[in-house]
Amino acid sequence: MRIVRTIPELRALIRTLREGGQRVGFVPTMGFLHEGHAALIRHSTSRCDATVVSIFVNPTQFGPGEDLAQYPRDLERDQNLCLQLGVKVLFLPEVSEVYPTGYTTFVDPGPMAERLCGAFRPGHFRGAATVVAKLFNMVQPDLAFFGQKDFQQSVIIRRMVRDLNLAVDVVVAPTVREADGLALSSRNTYLAPEARTRALALSRGLFAAEAAFKDGERRAELLLQTARAQLGEVDELQYLELVDTQTLDPLAGELTRTGALCVAARVGRTRLIDNVILSPTDEGVSFLHLDPL
Ligand code: AMP
Repeated sequence: MRIVRTIPELRALIRTLREGGQRVGFVPTMGFLHEGHAALIRHSTSRCDATVVSIFVNPTQFGPGEDLAQYPRDLERDQNLCLQLGVKVLFLPEVSEVYPTGYTTFVDPGPMAERLCGAFRPGHFRGAATVVAKLFNMVQPDLAFFGQKDFQQSVIIRRMVRDLNLAVDVVVAPTVREADGLALSSRNTYLAPEARTRALALSRGLFAAEAAFKDGERRAELLLQTARAQLGEVDELQYLELVDTQTLDPLAGELTRTGALCVAARVGRTRLIDNVILSPTDEGVSFLHLDPL
């Protein structure tokens, strides 16, 4: 595994890989890797000849008062995991490498960035879309892998790739969970034991709605109510919405097409998100899994 910190070094390495005819897969992360990241890396190594992983805690996607300074880090553990998983290139740029002095250009993802998490984290998706566009230009991957855990991000990235004609196929892989249902997240490390127990309300609510859906319930309001009934234990429910998987528009009435049931809540000082896909036609399966759009 090669560890590179600068864009010229990265470009030279990728050029060599490409000249050797290798198909390049890319997994962008903010580090403190867990099984969710590992699953994306495995998807990449199984489909591509060379996998590039980046670890970059991107300052432009954090708002004032968010956890940029405290974001958990364990570079040594991350490096070992990447090595074990067969990553070829680990890209670890400094902030000044990605945003040199005088940097002023951003990607504006449009109205989808204002919805759901965007309403609570102004500027977050502008920062996330910008860094992903930059990383795509640096790595120039054939395939890039994202997690369904960050559902809104995956929709915005796919739209950006289409709208800006970026030459990469985006693959969205299912959320990896703990045995008790909690979606894996680097931020789970913030949860004290008591808060971690209460955090299970998110997946419990989503799974209750999913069970009702599988039993034939199609009324959006009833599905939302079923989930909401489990969410009493969180400290602040920021949103619970059933939305269209392409546009993020809210779905009401009878569910006739695939929806994403998305939740965000604060438990203690930790902000958590989760979602499930509800698909009347099973098209959810192809949304998620591994066929490029
Ligand atoms: P992060 O390091 O949190 O920015 O996440 C990097 C990538 O890993 C993103 O595409 C996330 O959606 C994905 N990811 C994070 N948590 C999970 C999870 N529990 N299951 C699957 N993918 C995940």
